[in-house]
Amino acid sequence: MSLGIRSRLFLLAALMIVAVVGAAGVYIERSVERSLRSQLELELFRHAKSTGVLLENAVASGYDATADRAAAATRSEIWVFTLDGRPVGSSALAPLELEQLAQPSDAPEVRQAIDAERGVDVRADADGVLQMHVAVKVAAPGGAVVARSSAPVLTVGRTLFELRLAVLLCGVAGLVVAGGLLIAMGSQVERALQPVVSSAAAAKKADSKGAESVDDDDGPQSLRTVAVDLERTMGTLSSERDRFEAVLQSLEQAVLVLSADDRVVTANRAAYSLFSLPEGTVGRRLLEAVRVPRLKALADAASEGGTHHDHFDLPSGQHIDVRATKHVDEGVVIVATDVTEVRHLERVRRDFVANVSHELRTPISVIRANAETLLDGALEDAKAARMFVEATHRHADRLGRIVSDLLDISRIEAGRYALHPSTMNLADVVDEVLDLVQSKAAEKDIQLAVSIDHALDIHADRKAMEHILINLVSNAFKYTAEQGEVQVTAQASSPDTVRIEVLDNGPGIDPAHRERIFERFFRVDPGRSRDMGGTGLGLSIVKNLVEAQGGDVGVDPRSPKGSVFWFTLPAGGSGPLEEGAQEGRSS
Ligand code: ADP
Repeated sequence: MSLGIRSRLFLLAALMIVAVVGAAGVYIERSVERSLRSQLELELFRHAKSTGVLLENAVASGYDATADRAAAATRSEIWVFTLDGRPVGSSALAPLELEQLAQPSDAPEVRQAIDAERGVDVRADADGVLQMHVAVKVAAPGGAVVARSSAPVLTVGRTLFELRLAVLLCGVAGLVVAGGLLIAMGSQVERALQPVVSSAAAAKKADSKGAESVDDDDGPQSLRTVAVDLERTMGTLSSERDRFEAVLQSLEQAVLVLSADDRVVTANRAAYSLFSLPEGTVGRRLLEAVRVPRLKALADAASEGGTHHDHFDLPSGQHIDVRATKHVDEGVVIVATDVTEVRHLERVRRDFVANVSHELRTPISVIRANAETLLDGALEDAKAARMFVEATHRHADRLGRIVSDLLDISRIEAGRYALHPSTMNLADVVDEVLDLVQSKAAEKDIQLAVSIDHALDIHADRKAMEHILINLVSNAFKYTAEQGEVQVTAQASSPDTVRIEVLDNGPGIDPAHRERIFERFFRVDPGRSRDMGGTGLGLSIVKNLVEAQGGDVGVDPRSPKGSVFWFTLPAGGSGPLEEGAQEGRSS
């Protein structure tokens, strides 16, 4: 059986009233009883004392008459005992009856009075009526006696009965008032909750799409529906929050959310790493967390409204691009992107364009100047004309080489240099390449030696392999003095890798330049390189082609003089590249 809210409240109030009134009743009853008894005791004590005064003037034979007189005056029962407990006066017994009482009294109050001047006892008499006895030792002409005054405790009981009745009436009155209040309050609360209940009922009706009829008065049921809906909404909100958190954390951009009072509310993983944020950053002021005044200035500007943008270096050296926007909660959202790498690439591209322009400008202006000189009359002078045309031819040739090298680089970097790796015999490829460049060695009387095990196979693209070897061997011829020596050697550096070396006894390369000579247009001696028809792109092409095939490239000094240019490639049959077309890798 389920009770309504009002009945439950009333029951609760009734229980409380019964408990409080009951406890108060018991407490009051006890203290009233205690006070009434001590009042009765005091009264009986006075009676006994007054009896003592009367006894002072009585002779021993007149004790009984004195007891009667005292009883009449005090309206209580008076007895007189000798100190050995023998009754010698009683208002309750006739003198004859008294004389027959030979037994000394063993009543506790009489014993106490004999021993300690005064005694009190409460006990039921033969008729079952509760009596209080107060005995006092008093002086009498025939020696000390004990005067005892007794009265029924009845009056206390009556008073207590009245008290209980009053308490009960109070309780009942309390219950009536509580009931009335509950009824009044109940209607008020009901009126206040009516709109909530109605809208909850309407929501429930809409939810069930009329499938089940809803009673508008079904308040508790509607409220339960609201509770369920609320729980569902909370669940949706919390999973939304988790999703947002996951997205935020997985962003590559650093995100910092600031509150209106400039404190960090949220920071994602990228922000912790980019700004090297310490533990416990959330809750700190922006400048305490990130000691970068420009970031703080940007956040301040954004807090005035709108989106603000800036880019600058962090103390760590990273360059960041930052956007700060004021959000709806009056705080600011900062989104920072690390653009260090992008800027580096931009710089490389700018340098490259500048280098290319510079490289092209020289041959073009020489060709133009030669053509102008020829047109201005040098054509008429056959000897001079030949000289100018030869120079023009040389520079046009150089221009062609630069353009061709640039095209190769851009094709490799754009992944359009198709690689078709296959297993081939290394000694065969080297021999073929050396046949092509042999004449250059002969021109400078350079001794060329090849030492390659005929069993060595490599897994590479044949065209790329020839390109690499031609560049390295040509450089060796170019930079080695007349009658120098150039060697090409190869060995398996591991079961899967073959290392090919081109050694010369030229000027060698300063350690400071060893890293950079593989960069585009880098030359140790630009003038000399140009004079020898170099483009400054050969080693860059070598590096791109070797790396596109999964190898490494480098240069070591040769003792006592010269350089060792080396590169590695996958050994035949074990290369990482499969047969078939592979795209060149950009560096
Ligand atoms: P270049 O067309 O100028 O030879 P490379 O890219 O082939 O361009 O070489 C870059 C620079 O490396 C050269 O300018 C030269 O200074 C240096 N270099 C290349 N090969 C050798 C070598 N075998 N001995 C000494 N220096 C070399």
